Amino acid sequence: MARPSKYPTCLALYSGGLDSILACKVLQEQGIHVLALRFITPFFGYKLKGREESFKKKTLADYGIESEVIDISEIYLKMLRDPRHGYGRYINPCIDCKILMLQEALKRLDEFGACLIATGEVLGQRPMSQRRDSLRIIERDSGTEGLLLRPLSALHFSPTAIETRGIVDRSRLLGLSGRGRKDQMALAVRYGIKRYPAPAGGCVLTDPIISQRLKCIFGLWPDLGVNDCLLAQLGRHFLLPDRSWLVIGRRERENSKLVSLMTKGDIQLNMVSAPGPVGLWRKTDSDTYAALAAGILCRYTKMKGQPADVELSCPGIGKKRIVRGLVLSDRDIERLNTDFHRYGNRHRHPDNIVTVHIPPGQW
Ligand code: SF4
Repeated sequence: MARPSKYPTCLALYSGGLDSILACKVLQEQGIHVLALRFITPFFGYKLKGREESFKKKTLADYGIESEVIDISEIYLKMLRDPRHGYGRYINPCIDCKILMLQEALKRLDEFGACLIATGEVLGQRPMSQRRDSLRIIERDSGTEGLLLRPLSALHFSPTAIETRGIVDRSRLLGLSGRGRKDQMALAVRYGIKRYPAPAGGCVLTDPIISQRLKCIFGLWPDLGVNDCLLAQLGRHFLLPDRSWLVIGRRERENSKLVSLMTKGDIQLNMVSAPGPVGLWRKTDSDTYAALAAGILCRYTKMKGQPADVELSCPGIGKKRIVRGLVLSDRDIERLNTDFHRYGNRHRHPDNIVTVHIPPGQW
């Protein structure tokens, strides 16, 4: 909702990291009303889902910054399947990520009565998205030319329309650049900012293990959704011969999270008479490999190597049955886990039709 203000309003992309906090402070200092937009997706910021109000209160209390939390998961997933500017070292589409967030901010200018957009980008700080040419591409392809300001590095660029029109006082903007953090830390002291998250934390698309797994999942199930992406960040993963997906929790917290991610069509696996992890079995249409799935779960209990009963249930519809788990060797387990990565990688491009061929009768 737009709020009447005698000061111009700026929408700031806000990750919660120090640079984005400082960009807001630099503008606030010259009387600009700043509204920080915290975009969230299954890959960053998702723990704020359902806790938006407490985040807003905390951001205001800690930094004196007003904020909004906006879930852009669906549109982000669409972009992540095939980012125009490609991926970084892992599955991080940093340039397209920035473009998308700026476009989302641009769409909301009228809603919030804003006339400019700011980011905490610093020239040369990140290899992919903060080079001079990348910053230029981000501005051009997001359609924010003339509206976008990078307060921390503004003096390294020609004055923007916002500066020449006098909306922002260029002489009070900064000329930071490079990978060092010393200037930012000094500014934090000046603004009385005592606590802030470590740089570059919080985006799982730059995590080597999770990004590798996400690539596999994209390859196997190109139409994956938000819940699938959250599932990809938990547990141990196995590809069963019918191309179904079994995830086994590694610790108590993961077990509870797995249960919270159960959705229509999923099967939950629990040990019947021994403590053990929880399994979530997804994308299967038959019980053909139930004993195999149960056997995998059994491998992660203390009864490893012995036949044991596993309860298979479909939460919500009350359907349950008990299955005796197959006895599997470490090699079997490793192969099922490797299959997940092997087939996923081979069919990585989303346009490919995935055909997993595992000889019948192996299990
Ligand atoms: S690290 Fe993640 S959140 Fe940051 S720009 Fe890259 S993809 Fe986006």
